[in-house]
Amino acid sequence: MTLVYFFDEGRGDWKALLGGKGANLAEMTRLGLPVPPGFTITTEACNAYHAARAMPAGLWDEVRAQLTRLEREAGRGFGHPDDPLLVSVRSGAKFSMPGMMDTILNLGLTDETVIGLASASGDERFAWDAYRRLVQMYGDVVAGVAKHEFEEALEDLKHARGVSSDAELGARDLMALTGTFKNIYRERAGHDFPQDPWTQLQGAVRAVFDSWNNRRAVTYRRLNGIPDDLGTAVNVQAMVFGNLGEDSGTGVGFTRDPNTGEPVPFGEFLMNAQGEDVVAGIRTPEPLDRLARLMPDVHRQLLVMTTLLEKEMRDLQDFEFTVERGRLFMLQTRAGKRSARASVRVAVDLAQERLITPGEAVCRVDPAVLDQLLHPRLDPDHGQPVLARGLPASPGAATGVAVFSSDEAARRGEHEAVILVTPETSPEDIHGLAAARGILTARGGMTSHAAVVARGMGKPAVVGAESLRMERGAARLTVEGVEVREGDLLTIDGTSGCVYAGAVRTLPATVDACLDELLGWTDKFRRGGVRANADTPEDARRAREFGAQGIGLCRTEHMFFGEDRLPHVRTMILTQDADEERGALEHLLEAQRSDFRDILLAMDGLPVTIRLLDPPLHEFLPSLEVLTARVAAAEARGDEGDEAQADRALLARVKAMHEVNPMMGLRGIRLGLTRPAITRMQVRAIAEATAELEREGRTPRPEIMIPLVGTATELALARAQVEAVLDEVRALGGAKLDIPIGTMIEVPRACVEAGEIARHADFFSFGTNDLTQLTFGYSRDDAQGKFIPHYLQAGILKDDPFATLDVDGVGALVRLAVAQARSVKPDLKFGVCGEHGGDPRSVRFFHEVGLDYVSCSPFRVPVARLASAQATIGEVTHSTK
Ligand code: PEP
Ligand code: MG
Repeated sequence: MTLVYFFDEGRGDWKALLGGKGANLAEMTRLGLPVPPGFTITTEACNAYHAARAMPAGLWDEVRAQLTRLEREAGRGFGHPDDPLLVSVRSGAKFSMPGMMDTILNLGLTDETVIGLASASGDERFAWDAYRRLVQMYGDVVAGVAKHEFEEALEDLKHARGVSSDAELGARDLMALTGTFKNIYRERAGHDFPQDPWTQLQGAVRAVFDSWNNRRAVTYRRLNGIPDDLGTAVNVQAMVFGNLGEDSGTGVGFTRDPNTGEPVPFGEFLMNAQGEDVVAGIRTPEPLDRLARLMPDVHRQLLVMTTLLEKEMRDLQDFEFTVERGRLFMLQTRAGKRSARASVRVAVDLAQERLITPGEAVCRVDPAVLDQLLHPRLDPDHGQPVLARGLPASPGAATGVAVFSSDEAARRGEHEAVILVTPETSPEDIHGLAAARGILTARGGMTSHAAVVARGMGKPAVVGAESLRMERGAARLTVEGVEVREGDLLTIDGTSGCVYAGAVRTLPATVDACLDELLGWTDKFRRGGVRANADTPEDARRAREFGAQGIGLCRTEHMFFGEDRLPHVRTMILTQDADEERGALEHLLEAQRSDFRDILLAMDGLPVTIRLLDPPLHEFLPSLEVLTARVAAAEARGDEGDEAQADRALLARVKAMHEVNPMMGLRGIRLGLTRPAITRMQVRAIAEATAELEREGRTPRPEIMIPLVGTATELALARAQVEAVLDEVRALGGAKLDIPIGTMIEVPRACVEAGEIARHADFFSFGTNDLTQLTFGYSRDDAQGKFIPHYLQAGILKDDPFATLDVDGVGALVRLAVAQARSVKPDLKFGVCGEHGGDPRSVRFFHEVGLDYVSCSPFRVPVARLASAQATIGEVTHSTK
């Protein structure tokens, strides 16, 4: 087995073996781009190292052989005293994990070679600067010496010299600083900084392998669903320098704007700097356009190369380059992380430019990112003054309380929305970034760590808001005389880069032309239908705008609240007087008829599945606790007034109806069978609204759905009830009332007896919320707040089963029910209306099982359309990973 490949021996599609970075370096080399020579140690070597806790046999021999070739190609010797070869050692996994693992630059510098480098480069300051950086990075990454120890020594030196920036330190200063760094290294590591380049290289490779399992890398993998067993490759590459003077520089860029997706190259660079200076966000870089003025030739070459790269890779590229004394080198390219909006725009544009097919475009967009696009944005007329402006690094608006450290963000973010505010971020902040609703930094550019990570996570971010004054460690900021303290509300708009004090009004999201185009394509590929869960005409209209093909679940209980309804609902529940009950039902019939009319009209021509009343009745009554307290207070006062007496009577009824476990009590079909008057009222309202619309020449398509069925007998009885009312209304005159009657399948027993139940149903709709609750025996109201987080952390559950369908358990029941029902009634229609209907992974499963449609909240309809199309195409290649 080969463990090390020279760049020209690898291939662009060997990402699993060489890591994304290594594979792309191989590809760029193959394309003849000016890539500094180097080689890649494979992920298999990393995995073998972790398995055996020792370097695999033969690894160092292969590295030595490839290093010899590298020396030859670079024309320099590793450790050569006169003109030393320096190398970088970088991690690179199959999926990009920016900044999560370790990198060491300038390897090969020693007390001896630094002199050689100084004379070969003609720049003594540069040589010592490179050496002190190596000791610092190597100390941190390989020997575990705390970074801040070196940083403090640097600060002390600047203070002693009376200067404020590193650039003002001379060669002598940096030489002295290197000495100080080496002392710190010796003291903390317990040995001298290694003076043998080969030892340095071995230590660096081992440290990069180890960094696969550091805390931030593990967290990042968990957040992004990247498996732990992939391992990282290690890239060893000849160094080129962007800090050799004013004809040198370094930069990063994107072939298209990663924020908007616009097809214009976008990037940033710093003259006379090393790559880490750009990415770390320590100095705010300049836009790429300025390079066109400073070095027109280099700029032109860069554009030619990156355009070529995009054509070859067939995707938006994120590249790094260095200019060494006027000569351009390409250091890296990869599929660029992009905002949700950009991922849609780029996919559509690439398809229109014929670089990819529409089917590929559909598969390129991660359905989860649509969720962000369909989130609220700031109302443009909100009229609130801007507190500060920064760069619009990741779109969307977020409001939350300001917190000034990642630890605080992680702590408070558990129970409230927080905005993480910090001078800049580094990979150590990953837990804070993950916990925050939005990110605001005072420094850094569009490619700073905060910007890249926020975009990847799909969180709003404003970076480089330089007017913010913050002291490290102080939990407040000031800007233009205004002070924002920890816990104060802040709003950031990652689309405009504006920051506001307090909360700002937001508007619901809309589908733009590009997304509309993409969603149009999804409909061409999609086999499964997509409906919405909607209970109001507004929701129905919105769902229709988002492309819903009907309503899969209209929860009628939501219509029972509201001031004009609730008193009648309560009378209906509580009264023992037949006339009073009739009166209340009459009121509700009127109200429901108009509810159903409006919703059927909003969905005219499309199916609307109306579910009969489902929840336990006590949900409509005053709470037992409140009532008990009120009655006790009245008794203590000796109050015998009308109200007090009514309260006492009410309390007695509420107590009588109280259930220890209402979710498993008198609800769903049990309610319909024990209180048939409610069912009759609801069915009559549906039938009359339908008849009315039919008379008006409309095409109402209601479907009546009976919830929580557990036995075939239950459904047979309920169906007879419903049919009787439909017959009555039909008998009144002319209406067709061709209304399918179906049931929800949300009780495990119903899955097992699905064949028998199917005999009485025209359709099944899986209620996977209750089905999950009852299959696991986890309360859907409590489990997520109680033990599911622990279960996820401990690996007992892989996913939250209320968010992503548990395929092995709940999914097996769904499969069983479909198979049994089909064997009895081959043309039975199947849908799902639990929350899982809008979850991309669950949608894929439902597709595979052969359900006819999924139904989800209106905002997730586009997500489900895309996920369903991807499931049909059968191949998902998320370009953002
Ligand atoms: C379900 O149980 O999945 C369902 C859709 O019904 P509800 O959430 O209203 O109980
Ligand atoms: Mg349910």
